[in-house]
Formats: sequence, C-alpha cells, structure tokens
Amino acid sequence: MQFELTEEQQQIKMSVREFAESEIAPHVMEWDESQHFPVELQPKLAELGLMGVIFPEEYGGAGMGYVEYATIIEELSRVDGSVGISVAAHNSLCSNHIYQYGTEEQKQKYLAPLASGTHLGAWGLTEPSAGSDASGTKSTATRTDGGWVVNGSKNFITNASVGALAILMAVTDRAKGNRGISAFVVELDNPGIRVGKKENKLGMRASDTCTLVMEDCRLASDALLGEEGGGWVDSMKILDGGRISIAALSVGLARGAYEASLKYSKERRQFGRPICEFEAIQFYLSEMATEIDAARLLTQRAAAAKDAGEIVTRFSAQAKLYASEIAVRVTDLGIQIHGGYGFTKDFPVEKYYRDVKLCTIGEGTSEIQKLVIAKQLLSGGP
Ligand SMILES: Cc1cc2nc3c(=O)[nH]c(=O)nc-3n(C[C@H](O)[C@H](O)[C@H](O)COP(=O)(O)OP(=O)(O)OC[C@H]3O[C@@H](n4cnc5c(N)ncnc54)[C@H](O)[C@@H]3O)c2cc1C
Repeated sequence: MQFELTEEQQQIKMSVREFAESEIAPHVMEWDESQHFPVELQPKLAELGLMGVIFPEEYGGAGMGYVEYATIIEELSRVDGSVGISVAAHNSLCSNHIYQYGTEEQKQKYLAPLASGTHLGAWGLTEPSAGSDASGTKSTATRTDGGWVVNGSKNFITNASVGALAILMAVTDRAKGNRGISAFVVELDNPGIRVGKKENKLGMRASDTCTLVMEDCRLASDALLGEEGGGWVDSMKILDGGRISIAALSVGLARGAYEASLKYSKERRQFGRPICEFEAIQFYLSEMATEIDAARLLTQRAAAAKDAGEIVTRFSAQAKLYASEIAVRVTDLGIQIHGGYGFTKDFPVEKYYRDVKLCTIGEGTSEIQKLVIAKQLLSGGP
C-alpha cells in the first residue's frame, strides 16, 4: 500500500498548484461576486492537460489516472471550487460517459474535442422531479425515421450554458422503469435545446449551473450513447467515478480554509499574544488537519482502486460522504478561528464556507451516499 505520491505525481501537483495560484487566485472573489464563468481559463487548462486528464492521448487526453485526477481537482479547488467543479463535470461525468460507453466513432467525434479542451461538456441526469431518485426521469426520447426526438428538461446542469455538448438521460421505454432510460449526446447548438434558468447560487458562483429545455429536439440515430435502456445503469457507474472528484473537491476546499486559518491564527493577536497560542484554537487546527488527512486517504484509496480496475461503488461513496461532511465542518471552524473577520468577504474562509456546502449535495446527497454504502455492506458487494 502506497501513501505517498510518486515523484511524477508530485510534479503534477506542484504545477497545478502554481497554475491555480498565478492564474486563478487573483480573480477568485471578482468571479464569485459577478458570477462570471472564467471561459478565458479553458485554453490554459487545456494546455496543462486538465480538460482530458483521464483519457488516452489517442483521444487528445493526458493519459493520467484517477490518483492524478483527484490530486488535480484538490489543487484547483484549494484555490477555487468553481473551477474544480467545472473541470470535474467536464472530465469525469460528460467526457467519461463517452469514453466508457461511446462507439469508436462517437469517441473520435465527441471525446477528442472535449479531452483536448476545444469543447466543454455537460452531463444531465437531474430533473425538477428527479433528483436523488433519478429513476423518476420524465424527459422522453421517441424514435423517429432515422433518429430521435427529445422532450423535457434538466436542471442544475453544470456547464450547461457554456458547454458545446451535453450527455442527457431520457426515457425511451416507460414500461421498463430504470431499464427504459437511455443516454444521448446532444450538441448544444441544436435548435431543439435551449438554456433556461441560470441558478443564483449560495456558493460555486463562478461555475455555470443552468436548466436545459428540450422541445422537439431532433437527434440523429447515432446520438444514442451506449445500449438503448442502459442509460440509468451507466449513469450510476459514471457517478462511482464522479464521486471521487467531489471527494477531492471537498479536500481541496477544506485545505484552503485550513491553510488560511492557520496563517490567520499566527497573525491575529488578542490578550497580548497570537490566538494560535490558545489551546482552543490549537484543538481546532489539530482537528481540521487530521480530518483533512483522513479524507484525502479515503479519496486516494478510491482513486487507486479505480486505477486498478476495481468496482469502487463503496469506496467512492465513503470518500465522498466523509470528505464532504468534514469539509463543511472544517470551513465552519475556519470561520470560528477568524471571528468576525471570517464573516466578511475580506477573508477567503467566507467563500470556502459557502462553496463547500455543494459537496454534501451534488452527485448524490450525504443521505444517498449512506444508502449506497449500506447496500454494498449488506449485499457483500465491493
Ligand atoms: C451547483 C450544483 C451543480 C449540479 N450539477 C449537476 C450536473 O452537472 N448534472 C446533474 O445531473 N445534476 C447536477 N446537480 C444536481 C444534484 O446532483 C442534485 O441536486 C442532487 O442529486 C440532489 O437532488 P435534489 O436537489 O433534487 O434533492 P432531493 O432529491 O429532492 O433531496 C432533498 C432531501 O431529501 C433527501 N432524500 C431524498 N431521497 C432520500 C432517501 N431515499 N432517503 C433519505 N433521504 C432522502 C436528500 O438527501 C435531501 O436531503 C447539481 C446541483 C447543484 C446544486
């Protein structure tokens, strides 16, 4: 069992950290305040291989694994969770769905521009009445001569208004329940799909979260991704990998809040000494650092198992559950250490505190992670 990154992985970590500190950090609050999605970052992310981290070079990817991917998402999110979630939705949801279940033609046509960073991708499972229960999908895809017509809507979709294409799940056979849901690749310049409401969010405000509305959206027959009726099962498998990135996102946000709090505790003086000399503050810092390390270990265990080709349903749900819950706690303690100043936008902990809440909700809430873990425990599954 290996607990340290290799020299090469360490170099990747440091290059992403330098990039995040020089290209993202100076703009974080401005993007957050104006809800500006930093489209200008895309070519730079692409140059570093971050738009196609987990895909082979033959498809324009960087050919790395989930250990590197989790490390990259952690480093981006340590500086800005909005960039972290946008890169995560693009890589491990949208692009990975095509990589895992697409035909060779679909990979050449759609994955290559996504992985090389020419295009940005979105992934749409959630609907107004189908959140935790994705089997409640109402959007429909009806066969026509030579293709499909899709109707319905998807909400809370990351990268929806800035993406070039989206993977959308729709019912192709209502009588078959879950097994009647199929996945489709939809180019977002299709006249049958439009962007609806843009969410005005608590946190992750520089990420793009919108509704997509499909009105007689006509697709060619080769838009079907994977087997007809296989979209729900495939989506659950995609989420097994996706949850590793939400765990890494949580660790990154928690680390950002912890580092800012450690620094502040050495600078802020009360009762004639730095507040880090008070035992209460030291206990907070100790708890924060310990929980972050434990969350990273769970995240890297899931990532390493995924790279080894194992089924990671339980590992990824455990990593996501624990990392997101401790990250909420760590950012809360971060504000406490900052006192009143933590409640202002002059200090970065305020933003970490807002951003991190998404992590206990997106890609399955904490309650759903517990159900997933329990199902695996009770069935003796992986
Ligand atoms: C910023 C943001 C980005 C997102 N990006 C995407 C995206 O790119 N693509 C996408 O498809 N979706 C995306 N989502 C949607 C996200 O995955 C859902 O919000 C999430 O799955 C929860 O669904 P819901 O919001 O409908 O909550 P609900 O399912 O309505 O849940 C409400 C509450 O009930 C609880 N609950 C529900 N069922 C059970 C149960 N069986 N047992 C116990 N408790 C239960 C939940 O845990 C929660 O506490 C995003 C959401 C946000 C906020």
